[in-house]
Order: sequence, then structure tokens, then C-alpha cells
Amino acid sequence: MVNVVQNLQNIQQQLPAHVKLVAISKFHPAESIAEAYACGQRVFGESREQELSRKVEMLPKDIQWHFIGHLQTNKVRLIAPYITMIEAVDSEKLLLEIEKQAARHQRVIDVLLELHIAEEATKYGFSLSDCSQWLAKGQWRSLEHVRICGLMMMASNVDDEAQIREEMTLASRFFDEVKSQYFADAPYFKERSWGMSHDYRIAVECGSTMVRVGSAIFGERV
Ligand SMILES: *Cc1c(COP(=O)(O)O)cnc(C)c1O
Repeated sequence: MVNVVQNLQNIQQQLPAHVKLVAISKFHPAESIAEAYACGQRVFGESREQELSRKVEMLPKDIQWHFIGHLQTNKVRLIAPYITMIEAVDSEKLLLEIEKQAARHQRVIDVLLELHIAEEATKYGFSLSDCSQWLAKGQWRSLEHVRICGLMMMASNVDDEAQIREEMTLASRFFDEVKSQYFADAPYFKERSWGMSHDYRIAVECGSTMVRVGSAIFGERV
């Protein structure tokens, strides 16, 4: 039996106060989320729109939902009324759609830009150079209904700790660059979302402010 409460408390105890725990509940039932909620967890992450909508209906309204997966533009309007943060913005097209749908609901939606640093070819995200070039163009400055709050990345899915550390350190340095060049006067630009079940301890050492932990809380996904 997976002890959600104990897992959660264990992880919470290891995290410094400035690191937020996003409990990744994808593929796990609403009952498991309710268990975590009962011991104080309020921030959860999901990666599929339909599954998320179903859970939103069943669960308490003060949960803060993060969308962590690849988001198709035609799904943005479905989550725009309630989503707290869209973590994996990987194109200008997606960002513009979020702006449009957030405006329709008179909201400002917090987002993170997803970086592609890992070696895996299948992962989404901006390369560092694309991200720099895109920020330099500056069109994002005119968006009034999205707030770019930081960066998100996944390290390579490998056992080699040195490689994970290297990728996260690179992301952290890139964050510092972007922060000083474009967001020095924006206190909300502060999030570095890296670290999952197998590498959140490393992530904390590499500047993470937000770890996305699933299986270490809820058990293996079925
Ligand atoms: C599934 C997922 C996680 C959580 O993974 P675990 O290994 O279960 O902790 C974190 N981030 C993203 C983007 C995910 O898709």
C-alpha cells in the first residue's frame, strides 16, 4: 500500500521553505488527491485536459491546478477559466492562445516557458537559443493576460547524476541571464520548475523553486 500522507510529509520535510511542491497526480484517482489535500497539499499538477476537468469537478475548489504537459492550443479555452499555472509553454502560438482565452475570462494566467535541454529528442520546449531570440523580439511585452513567471525544464531521464546536475545548472544560469536581461523589474519572474521524483534533491541544489513530484508521492502510475 502506498502511504500518500507519509510520502508527502517526507518530501515536504526535505524541501527548503522557498521550494514549492507541485504534487503530480496524473493517472491517479481523485481519492488519492483528496488524501493529499486532507494533509494540507493544495498545489497539484496534471498533464491531460480531460482528466484534469474531471478531477476539478470532483475536488475542492481551492486547489491550485498546474498544467504540466504539452498543451494543444485547442485545449486552452477549456482550462482557461480556472487553471492557476500553465507550466510548459513551448511556442509563441500557444502563448498567444493563452493570452486570448485569458482575456475572454478577464484573467491573467501565470505561465512558465519550457526549455529543452535534455538529450531526449521527444521532449518539447524552446532551445536556449530560440528562447533568447524569442525574448529579444519582445512581442511578449504587449501581452496583458499572461504573466511569464519563470522557466521549466525536465532533465534527461538518466541515472548519471552528474549529467542531471549539469543540465539543471545550465537551466539555472540561463534563468539568471533572462532574469537580468528582461525581468529585472518583475518580482513575479522567479520560478525555476525542475526536479521530479528521481531528481528533486539534485534540483533543489541546482536552484529549483518548484519541484514536480508524482510517483514518489502517489506510487507508480498504472
Ligand atoms: C509526470 C511528470 C512529472 C512527475 O514525474 P514523477 O517521476 O512521477 O515524479 C513531472 N513533470 C512532468 C512534466 C511530468 O510529465
